Amino acid sequence: MSEIYLDNSATTKVNPKAAETAFKVMTEVYGNPSSIHDKGSTAAKLMLKARNDIIASFFGQQALKKLPKIPGFLGGEEYGRLIFTSCGTESNNLAISSVIESCKIASPRIITSDSEHPAVLRCFEKWAEKGCDVVYLSTKNGVIDENELKGAINKNTVLVSIMYVNNETGAIYDLPKLFKTVKDISPDTICHTDCVQAYQKIEVSPSKLNADMITISGHKIHAPKGIGALWVKNELIQKKRIIPILNGGGQESGLRSGTENLPGIAAFAEAVNVNGSDKAHITFSEKVTPLRNLMIENLDPSIRINVPAGDYVPHILSLTMPGQKSQPVLNMLSRQGIYVSSGSACSSHKNTVSHVLTAFGLSSSDADSTIRVSLDSDNTEEEILTFCRALNETVKRLAKK
Ligand code: PLP
Repeated sequence: MSEIYLDNSATTKVNPKAAETAFKVMTEVYGNPSSIHDKGSTAAKLMLKARNDIIASFFGQQALKKLPKIPGFLGGEEYGRLIFTSCGTESNNLAISSVIESCKIASPRIITSDSEHPAVLRCFEKWAEKGCDVVYLSTKNGVIDENELKGAINKNTVLVSIMYVNNETGAIYDLPKLFKTVKDISPDTICHTDCVQAYQKIEVSPSKLNADMITISGHKIHAPKGIGALWVKNELIQKKRIIPILNGGGQESGLRSGTENLPGIAAFAEAVNVNGSDKAHITFSEKVTPLRNLMIENLDPSIRINVPAGDYVPHILSLTMPGQKSQPVLNMLSRQGIYVSSGSACSSHKNTVSHVLTAFGLSSSDADSTIRVSLDSDNTEEEILTFCRALNETVKRLAKK
């Protein structure tokens, strides 16, 4: 049975070149980057190249000429620092917890949205229990209201953390505007964004976003699982606003201890470059937008597409099938080798209705009748048409039961 994989926001297939790179590093460049012999320094040089390549994917290829060539250095004044972590979840936790632990306010205000990934929401909940004053901004219809944000900022606001692209609806929140608002009102408030679903799908430029910290993750962009990174503005390092959450050997300039996952790091950089580095989002959008349009044209009119009122990415589609629960639909598609998800993969085993969809404005029953389709540039027109036929047929068959 041929397979049609339309769950690319849950994870992606590893690019063969990235897999080859990981294998080569595991079997040949296996030295510890911290070792001072030749095998270690070869590993450290490879890590430096990977780090600079990923930084260049934010700032453009001209950055490569200026980035320092000193192994062990995390970046530069102009281009910030890149801390390698194990995943997007760890990067989000490091960013959020650092800002709170390093602030000198007893009950700091921290602001986020009500549609964040659990990797941010659970962290905010932990800090709320410890006495932080938490504000959740509404994401009704996939949009964050600038005035609501303005009203939430007070003199104790130390952190605003908002994702760039929502993993269930595809909504793009207007961070360039929202983070500028934060900086205009309160220049010392730190702006962090979870760009796990945005990176290489839309432009992620730290300066255009007005962001101080950016989270990314390898397995969403055809690199292996188990590698992520946090980009941090240089100023935050100087002001000691990053506090390690793992204590140990002092890797990553003491900011993230633990022997670096060099096969993952090198494969991450390889995938970034194969995708097109700072231009990846352009090719991605060109390939995926016609597939999205084709899908919309061929879906049964009874299937509703939850389109955000503001901007959105082309590759994530939230589809509601009124009156049908998503689980039987997923199961029937899966039996035909077609893979989609209900809500995000991380929360879909919990049997709770998606907080993102209810925040978007869906009733609990509609949220429970919704699937997420997430496309990749490798998907074909034929796959999209086969998926539409299968979904239309499944919905009809279940409606007769
Ligand atoms: N943030 C968002 C928006 C995500 O979609 C995900 C994963 O689905 C994560 C964070 C977690 O990333 P990781 O799986 O690398 O921990």
